[in-house]
Amino acid sequence: MTVTPDTPLTQFPGVGEVRAKKLSHLGLNTAGDLLTYYPRDYEDRRQVYAIRQAPEGVRVCVRAMVAQRPRLSRIRKGLDLVQVPVVDQGGTLHLAFFNQSYVERALLPGEDYVFYGQVERQGNRLSMTNPVFERADRQDVTGRIVPVYPLTAGISGHLLAGLVRQALPCARGLADTLPQSIRQAHHLAAAEFALTAIHFPPDDRALDLARRRLAFEELFYLAVGLAFLKRRRTTLSTGCPIPALPVEQFAALLPFTPTDAQRRTMEEAARDMACGRPMNRLVQGDVGSGKTVVAAYAGWLAVQGGFQAAMMAPTEVLAEQHFRTLSALLSPAGVRVGLLTGAMTAAQKRKVHADLAAGDIDFVVGTHALLSQGVAFRRLALIITDEQHRFGVEQRSALAEKSAAGGMPSPHVLVMSATPIPRTLALILYGDLDVSVIDQLPPRRTPISTYVIREDKRQRMYQFVRRQVGEGRQVYIVCPAVEEDPEAALPGEESPALTLKAVKSYAQRLQREVFPDLTVDILHGKMRPREKDAAMRAFSQGKTQVLVATTVIEVGVDVPNATLMIIENADRFGLSQLHQLRGRVGRGEHPSFCVLLTATRNPDSMARLRTLASTTDGFQISREDLKLRGPGDFFGRRQHGLPQMKLSDLAADMPLLYEAQAAAEELLSRDPELSETENRPVLARVRRLFEDTGNSLN
Ligand code: ADP
Ligand code: MG
Repeated sequence: MTVTPDTPLTQFPGVGEVRAKKLSHLGLNTAGDLLTYYPRDYEDRRQVYAIRQAPEGVRVCVRAMVAQRPRLSRIRKGLDLVQVPVVDQGGTLHLAFFNQSYVERALLPGEDYVFYGQVERQGNRLSMTNPVFERADRQDVTGRIVPVYPLTAGISGHLLAGLVRQALPCARGLADTLPQSIRQAHHLAAAEFALTAIHFPPDDRALDLARRRLAFEELFYLAVGLAFLKRRRTTLSTGCPIPALPVEQFAALLPFTPTDAQRRTMEEAARDMACGRPMNRLVQGDVGSGKTVVAAYAGWLAVQGGFQAAMMAPTEVLAEQHFRTLSALLSPAGVRVGLLTGAMTAAQKRKVHADLAAGDIDFVVGTHALLSQGVAFRRLALIITDEQHRFGVEQRSALAEKSAAGGMPSPHVLVMSATPIPRTLALILYGDLDVSVIDQLPPRRTPISTYVIREDKRQRMYQFVRRQVGEGRQVYIVCPAVEEDPEAALPGEESPALTLKAVKSYAQRLQREVFPDLTVDILHGKMRPREKDAAMRAFSQGKTQVLVATTVIEVGVDVPNATLMIIENADRFGLSQLHQLRGRVGRGEHPSFCVLLTATRNPDSMARLRTLASTTDGFQISREDLKLRGPGDFFGRRQHGLPQMKLSDLAADMPLLYEAQAAAEELLSRDPELSETENRPVLARVRRLFEDTGNSLN
C-alpha cells in the first residue's frame, strides 16, 4: 500500500467498517489525520531492569520468567484476579492482574517476558499490579519511548500506534508548509522529522525538537490567520465614521474624574470610531476598574453622531443595573436610554421594539433578548458587550447583522471583559480585536482583606457579619447550589459537614436561627426574572442586609455599601470566579472583607485559595488559573471561536507564542498577500485552519 495523506483508514489492513467508525469518532479518517493525532503522553520503556534493580514507585520495564501457571480466582461478582510469580536470577516479583482473566492463558510458564508497570515493596516482597507485557523474544515496544494516545472504547493504544506507524511514510511526501527562511531563523526541525519523532521519539532531545517545531507551527498559523482577519477588517470593510468629541465634554456628566487609564481607553475607542473603519476593540479591566464609564462614553459619542448604540449584558440583573447607571448619567444629556430583557411583558417588549425601529431609543441595554427576531434598529452603529467571555463570537455577529439589515455599514464593536489575561495572550485569544487595558483602579479604594477559614470559625464569622451590619454595611453570602439535593454528594465526600451549602435552606436557617433580627434575602438563577430584580433592587437600596446568593451576582453587580463577601464551599469555585465574586465588595469608601469558607483537605485546593488571599491582582490570579486549568476551560471551550490547539499549551508555551507571533508579523510585512511561491502553502494552511471556525478568510 502506498500511503498518501488522503488515504482513507479503511484501506489500512485490520481496519473494517466498525473500527473505521470508532476511529472517525476520534477525528481520524485519513492517514494524514493520524500524523497529527499527537500523543498525549509517553512511556519511557528504553531501560529494562532486573527485578532487584528496578527503581520503585515509577513505571519501568522488568524482564523476568513466568515461574508457574497463573492462578485465576474470583474475588466477588465482577472482580477476577490473576496472580503469578515471575523470577530472574536475583529475585521474585509477584504479579496481580485485576479483571484481565485472559492473562491466565496468555502468560506461559517458563517463558521470558518484559513487564511494564510499577514495582511496589512490602517488606521483602516485591509486587506489580496490572502490568502490560510482551514476550522477551518478540519485543515490539520495549526499548523505545512509547506514545500514549487519547483513546476511545474499542481502539487500543497498541492499535493506534500500529496505524500511525503505517501512516508515517506519507510524511515523507509532505511538502513542508513552513517557509524555509522561517525554519532557519527560528531553528525549527523539518516537518517529516517532527511528525515522526512526535510519535516515536528516539530520545528526549528529538522529542523536544519535534514538539517545538509543531507547537510553533500551530501558533504561527494561528497568528497569521488572525493578522489576516484583522487586516481585512481594517482595510476592507467600511464603518460609519462617528466624530470624536473630547473626553472632557463627556466627563462633565460624571460625578467623578475618570482615571488616566479610563481616559486613555476612551480616547482609543473614540479614535477607532472616527476613522471610517469598524472598531473592534476589547477593553480589559479588572473588576471595579470602571469599564462601564468607557461604554457610556462610546455610546454617548454614537448618539451625538446621530446613531443608535446597543449594550448587551449576560444577565438580567446586570442589564438592569447598566440601564439605571446609563439613564442616570446620560438622560441629562438628552440621550434616550432603553431596556430590553426577557423578563419584560410582551406589551413592554413590543413598545421597545417599535421605539428601536423608529429611532426613538438612542441607547438600548439588554440581555440576549436583543438578539430576538422582533428587534430591528433604525441606525445602529455601535455594539457593546459586557463581560465578553459569556458571549460567543456568533452572538456578537448576530447583533451586527441587525445593523446590516438596516442598511448600515459594519457596526463598531466594543467588548468589555473583566478576565485579566496577559496582553499578548489576549491578542491571540481574542483574535482580531484591538486591546485596551484599564490597568488602574479608581482612587480611594480600600483594599479587600481576604481570609481562608474552616468550619470551626463559623460562629466568629457570624459575629463579624453582625458587626458589619451594625455599622450600616451589607453582606453577600455565596453558595454553590440553589437547592439541597441529598443525592448530590460530591465524589470523595463523606462527612455531612462537607455538603454543599444551598441558597434556599441555608437562607431560611440563617434567618431563623442566626439572624432573626436582620433582613435576609435570597437571589439565584432559578428565580423568576421579576423576583430576581426585586431582590437585587432591595439589596442595592439597602433594604436587605444579608443577601444569600448563587454566582448570579458574579458579574458586574455594583453595590458600594456591601463590604463583606462570604463564599461557602469556596474550593468549589475557580480562582478567576472567586476573584470576580470578591470584586462585588470593596467598591465604596469602607474597608471590605472576603471570607472563603472551606472544608477541603486537598493541599492543591488550599494552595489555590491562599493565592487568592495573598493578592488582589487579577492578572496574577488569572495566570495561576490559566496554569491550573489550561486555556480551554478558562475561556469556556469553543467559546472563543478560535481553532483548537492540539499541541501548544498557550499558558506554558508563552515564549514560543511570542516567537511565533513575531515570525508571523515579519512574514506578513514582507509578503502581505502571501503571494510568493514559498509562502503560498502558508496561505492554504491558514485558510483550512479557519474553515471550521466560521471565520472565513476569503
Ligand atoms: P467594572 O470595571 O467592574 O465594570 P464599574 O464600571 O462597575 O466597574 O465601576 C465600579 C465602580 O467604580 C462604580 O461604582 C463606578 O461608579 C465607580 N467608578 C468608575 N470610575 C471611577 C472613577 N474614575 N472614580 C471614582 N469612581 C469610579
Ligand atoms: Mg462591569
